[in-house]
This record gives sequence, structure tokens and C-alpha cells, in this order.
Amino acid sequence: MTAIIKLWELFLDILMPRICLGCRSKRPEGKMPICNACTAGIRVNKVYGELSPRLVLGAAASYDDQLVREIIHSLKYKRLSGAAKSLADLIIKHIEFSALRNIIKPARSIIVPIPLHPGRLRKRGYNQSELIAVEIGKYLGVPVRTDILMRVKRSAPQIKMKNRAARETNIRNAFALNPGFTNKLISLNGEAAKEIILIDDVFTSGATINEAARTLKGLSPEKIIALVAAKA
Ligand SMILES: [Zn+2]
Repeated sequence: MTAIIKLWELFLDILMPRICLGCRSKRPEGKMPICNACTAGIRVNKVYGELSPRLVLGAAASYDDQLVREIIHSLKYKRLSGAAKSLADLIIKHIEFSALRNIIKPARSIIVPIPLHPGRLRKRGYNQSELIAVEIGKYLGVPVRTDILMRVKRSAPQIKMKNRAARETNIRNAFALNPGFTNKLISLNGEAAKEIILIDDVFTSGATINEAARTLKGLSPEKIIALVAAKA
């Protein structure tokens, strides 16, 4: 988070005090976009899924939930960094409710946020998935690594694609392993990480997660656990 964004948010706070995106009445705590009561009202999934035997999907909430959609939108387009904390809290609740907590092995894992293309990163100023990943990393005690997976193709936003085939074509070969990355995947205990926790904000058709997982298979992880705030 750059100082300019912080300053901009401070300026916005003075200009128009933040009100909850949900009830439009209460003033949320800290930088959060919604109040505690509205946060508690969001329905969190109690089961996780499997995309393939070695690819687990934990989707915290539904993209049909209008409030969830508004939080994601504010994170991406209004530079509301507190929204990352709200989305991370939904994922953390999901980890607890769905027993994913028993599946995740923090000591042998690393966290990899879905990267943005450098051009888009410059324009937005931050990677929203990385902001969520940092919060999840603090909670799980797992290091966040942004030096492993790179975005090499500037694809259009997946959410704007009309169908599954278009999304798959759009994201194909979008990722690559960092060629400068020669180290082993080191987890917190200093051993080689066997599991990768992938973080993204929204899961639409699964094309992005599948393509990123396909690229990360070059590192031969035993398991990849994808965590997203919302599933469409
Ligand atoms: Zn509220």
C-alpha cells in the first residue's frame, strides 16, 4: 500500500465519511466497508469443493450476494483497501466453518496470490488478491510469495467474458513461473513447501484458478488449495 493511496483514503474519509455498504446507516469500524452487523449477516459456505484430486476449492460466499459483490467492486475500483480485510474475514470464516482448517498444513504451505499483469498493477496501484492474501497469511501463519507466479498476458477481466469457452481462451497461457526463481519453495519451518494456497477474489468459471494451478504444477506441489471470497 503506497502512501499516496493512504493519503487519498484519508482525504475521502474527511470529504465523505464512510457509511456501511450494506445498511447505508452505520459507520463501519476502521477502514472496513461494512459494519459488523452486516458482516455477520453474510451467508458463508460451510462446505469446500474439489476441482480435481489435487486441487481443492474453498469459496467463502456467493457472488449472487449483492453485498459481497459491492465489497469486491469497492476493492477493485474504488481503492477501498479495507475491503480486502472484509473479504479475507469471509474466507477465514469459511476456513473455520468448512473444516478446511484441518486440511490446510501451515508449516508446509506457501500462499500465492493470483498476480495481475504489470500494466494493470501500475494502473490500479495494488493487487487486490495480494491484499487478501496478506490477511490470510497473517491468520494462518503462512508466508505470502509474490515472486513465483507471474502474469505474462494482459487478459480482459474474466467477469466480462460471455461464456466458459471465452473465459478459457482469454486466460490461456496467461501465467508463467518466474524464470528468475530458482530457489525451492520454502515454507515457514524452512523445509520445502508441499502445498500451495492460491488466493483470488472471485471464482467465475474456474478458468483462472485452473490455469494458474496448471502453471504451478511445474513446481510439483502435492496439493493446491484455492481460496476465493466469492463464487459466481
Ligand atoms: Zn451495515
